[in-house]
Amino acid sequence: MIGRSAVDLHTHSLRSDGTLPPAALVRRAAANGVRIQALSDHDTLAGVDEAIAAGAALGVRIIPATELNTESEWGDVHVLGYFLDPADDALEERLRWLREHRGRRVELMVERLRALGYAISLERVLELAQGGSLGRPHLASALFEAGYVPTYDAAFEALIAKDSPAYVARVGLTPLEAVALIRAHGGVPSLAHPGSVIGLAALLPQLVAAGLAGMECHYGSHTPEFTAYLLGLAAVHGLVATGGSDFHGRGEHGAELGAVPVPADAVWMLESRQRPATIGPFRSREG
Ligand code: AMP
Ligand code: ZN
Ligand code: FE
Ligand code: FE
Repeated sequence: MIGRSAVDLHTHSLRSDGTLPPAALVRRAAANGVRIQALSDHDTLAGVDEAIAAGAALGVRIIPATELNTESEWGDVHVLGYFLDPADDALEERLRWLREHRGRRVELMVERLRALGYAISLERVLELAQGGSLGRPHLASALFEAGYVPTYDAAFEALIAKDSPAYVARVGLTPLEAVALIRAHGGVPSLAHPGSVIGLAALLPQLVAAGLAGMECHYGSHTPEFTAYLLGLAAVHGLVATGGSDFHGRGEHGAELGAVPVPADAVWMLESRQRPATIGPFRSREG
């Protein structure tokens, strides 16, 4: 049975590597019973205004968020940042820098794929992205539609996952820098899908010292045992247990909107962990 949750704190739209425009994403979440949704597109807040407008008409509260994918020896460390301000120009400048590096990386991976005999074009990849923050999912879609792989997910396994032939490392933030960036702009950082981290128990104290406030304990692919383990770790480190679907609308990755049960108090607990920004329009002027 698919669980139903009124809270979904991890969703992606066409503004990054999801398939639905923000308004359509919110409509689908609302139809599934979601009442509080974080729009957490990679390295952008571009969809937030559209999502808020759609949510207002449907009774869905939208939390502005982003997911920062980092580069380090700790595996795939993705940091969600909640309650960020789309009008924060200094933050937008940093996000634009990250998106430029995403674009360059996708270009390099297209070159790599072409050298391996997979004749996909950068133009087609950009068309598929429709102006959204570029990522490997757009490459996977191009490879799939060209018939080079049997499924969207197979593109990752065969060609573009870490340690695969066409993989190119990211130029971007380290995990600690991602946490610090979110805090500097008044956001509340939570570690996404901790199962993709290598060395979680060792990394966590460092992230907490940098300002980490939450951890995504509730996630579609977690076993009950792993969720219990994470809830224990969260309690030990004083982290808010967050959760979400990571819905993209592509392949098997992520769950359906609202399908991962998330305790409603996670939202208020996260709000209670907000601190004043040190950079940007709302920075504290005291001291
Ligand atoms: P990028 O930030 O460009 O490296 O792309 C990472 C994104 O690709 C993640 O946020 C997921 O949406 C997706 N992804 C990563 N690994 C897989 C996988 N094995 N299968 C399907 N999607 C994946
Ligand atoms: Zn994604
Ligand atoms: Fe992620
Ligand atoms: Fe995600």
